[in-house]
Amino acid sequence: MTTTDAPLGDLTGRRAQAIEDYRTLKAQGRVLDLTRGKPAPEQLDLAQDLLSLPAGRWTAADGTDCRNYGGLKGLPELREIFAPVFQVPAERLLAAGNSSLELMHDCVVHALLSKVPGAVRRWADETRVAFLCPVPGYDRHFALSERFGIDLVPVPMSDEGPDLEVVERLVADDPTIKGIWCVPKYSNPSGVSYSDQVVERLAAMPTAAPDFRILWDNAYAAHHLTDEEVEILDLLGACEAHGHADRALVFGSTSKITFAGAGVGFFGASQANVDWLLAKSGKRSIGPDKVNQLRHAQFLRDTDGVRTHMKAHRALLQPKFELVLDVLEQELGGTGLARWTTPKGGYFISLELVHGGASEVVRLASEAGTALTPAGATHPYGDDPHDATIRIAPSFPSLTDLRHAVTGLATCVRLVGYERQLS
Ligand code: PLP
Repeated sequence: MTTTDAPLGDLTGRRAQAIEDYRTLKAQGRVLDLTRGKPAPEQLDLAQDLLSLPAGRWTAADGTDCRNYGGLKGLPELREIFAPVFQVPAERLLAAGNSSLELMHDCVVHALLSKVPGAVRRWADETRVAFLCPVPGYDRHFALSERFGIDLVPVPMSDEGPDLEVVERLVADDPTIKGIWCVPKYSNPSGVSYSDQVVERLAAMPTAAPDFRILWDNAYAAHHLTDEEVEILDLLGACEAHGHADRALVFGSTSKITFAGAGVGFFGASQANVDWLLAKSGKRSIGPDKVNQLRHAQFLRDTDGVRTHMKAHRALLQPKFELVLDVLEQELGGTGLARWTTPKGGYFISLELVHGGASEVVRLASEAGTALTPAGATHPYGDDPHDATIRIAPSFPSLTDLRHAVTGLATCVRLVGYERQLS
């Protein structure tokens, strides 16, 4: 995190300037949106060729007619391409529907209704089921869990991942803690990538629950923003090495590689977990959309093809992230009002307000026409105890809109920050 902790000078004057800037902002009447962590149209254009594939071809490498039913595990050639990306052997990587979130949802529902490998009973028959949630985190993980009555227990994040002292203590003592949500690379929203040591400890730690699961949502596995292409430790391999082969459930998708909404979701795990999921999903579907999987395999070609394609995304995204960071530095650097992350990949920048007041900043920005993700969304139950975190999503707006939106956001941060310091 970049810190801005220089001493403050004339607070009253700074507040007066912020009030003036906010008036100007409102008068400009621009309607802007910083909420949407989704690809911009130019990014979707990169995969436009998908629309003309599979170009009259319908057979997979093994001769499967992709137009027909079957192939629950997904197309082998696509699973081969993504096996290294998600660090799962191809034979234990499933290519499924259009979304990883639905796979996470299904795994939770199936675990409630049918015993997962290693479980004593179904989760629905437990008196309590709780998941650990490193914060700040992804609001849809929280919403999905809440929907099924799963208690959410926040765990602080460090620059290396979740605070393992806290995690290890909680899971060792409490058999009702059945899982932990993790976005291990370029995390949403902090951009943090888990260190090898954190991955190793997650794999090794003793848990009171015999059916404890790490929900490893590697949504940004290939989404680099710098030359340093971060590699994380292979969780599945680490779990196996520590005698906890069934602990890891790995998820990913091409939502932010090809088309968000018309991509392919992936699931990887131990053989026992894969068999468990296939047995359940076989009741739900006769097979995935193999035509879409075939066009993805043709378009991306191989794992290197994914890397090359992601470089084209980076060329579009990196200037947006740099712009946001420049504006934050210009507007808030040295004020002591905020800290922010400098992510090496992923889709978000996390802004933390030193004096709190995130809800007020979001309200003021909204009144001036800029939509921000609701304050608290990054925490379970929408409860950010310090009311400090604001998630910035730079991908969708144009560079011009982004500059206006982040400048406006910084104005609101100054206004609320100086008010708080003076009150
Ligand atoms: N996981 C994380 C961490 C995300 O940020 C997102 C989308 O923003 C998703 C999952 C959604 O993935 P999918 O489109 O594969 O369902």
